[in-house]
Amino acid sequence: ERLVEIERFENEESLETTLRPSAWSEYIGQEQIKKNLGVFIEASKKRREALDHVLFFGPPGLGKTTLALIIANEMNANIKVTAAPMIEKSGDLAAILTNLEEGDILFIDEIHRLSPAVEEILYSSMEDFRIDIIIGSGPAAQTVKIDLPRFTLIGATTRAGMLSNPLRDRFGMNFRMQFYSPEELAKIILQASVKLNKEIVHEACIEIAKRSRGTPRIALRLLRRVRDFADVANEEKIVHSRTKFALEELGINSHGFDEMDIKLLNLLIGAKGKAIGLSTIAASLSEDEGTVEDVLEPYLIANGYLERTSKGRKATRNTYDVLNVNFEYEEGSLF
Ligand code: ATP
Repeated sequence: ERLVEIERFENEESLETTLRPSAWSEYIGQEQIKKNLGVFIEASKKRREALDHVLFFGPPGLGKTTLALIIANEMNANIKVTAAPMIEKSGDLAAILTNLEEGDILFIDEIHRLSPAVEEILYSSMEDFRIDIIIGSGPAAQTVKIDLPRFTLIGATTRAGMLSNPLRDRFGMNFRMQFYSPEELAKIILQASVKLNKEIVHEACIEIAKRSRGTPRIALRLLRRVRDFADVANEEKIVHSRTKFALEELGINSHGFDEMDIKLLNLLIGAKGKAIGLSTIAASLSEDEGTVEDVLEPYLIANGYLERTSKGRKATRNTYDVLNVNFEYEEGSLF
């Protein structure tokens, strides 16, 4: 059974790669980012220089990696994709950097997780395109300076606040990713269904889009699950009724909340107007604090279902409305 699980996981990964847009025309939404990046890319191409370093921040699955790949495509540059947890020692980073060529792009995901020693090497390489490596130890230790080619670093992080100031300051551009509107997600779903060779009606796209927490990765995952339901029912097209049925079966409610969201919102409501601290929330949900802050909360905050205060997290009036809980009883103390 485990083998089957692993195989399925690999299929999902490769599907995600297949569905990934490779050109601006297929990259839906994030209009402001696209506009600005377009200008900077054109300018650096005109000057025949490497693009300045770029930082993307925002919750997972909003298209940071995809943007990095499109930038590489537009710049006609090679791209090396890695993630901070894979760069354990300064030597690992030095090996990556010295293998780059002029104009190459290095993409580091989860860049807030680099260790301080690795970060320090990154500073000098970003600024001076040079690194100092210490060879040997004790009195015989020597510092060797190595010149690097002009490369572009693209960093992605779910938490801009966790980035040290010196690192953040070395990015010439930084962009905050926005959640997608249902209409944008519907376009992404339609585009993906063409690639998957499965027809889908517009209402079904919208239905999936509304329940995807503003996130393309979730929308595409739901599309694949709904497609499974349609295939099993021998339906050539993905229709609205099957979509609704499948999403209900998957336990996705009509506001796009998943099980974790509902647990968190219920917890807030249960506090009867008092704020709850992050650590309490994490413990109650059996999640780590980082996941609560980076994955769960941003969507709820962006849509006005959760408020962060100095004392902790609170429900809003919307939270009560959306969960159909009467707030009159506590109204005075709450709002
Ligand atoms: P993480 O930080 O978790 O790696 P991410 O922000 O890098 O996530 P991606 O891997 O780039 O997210 O995107 C997830 C999936 O959503 C990809 O398969 C991609 O096809 C799709 N996708 C993301 N953004 C868009 C978009 N704007 N238009 C079309 N498809 C998109």
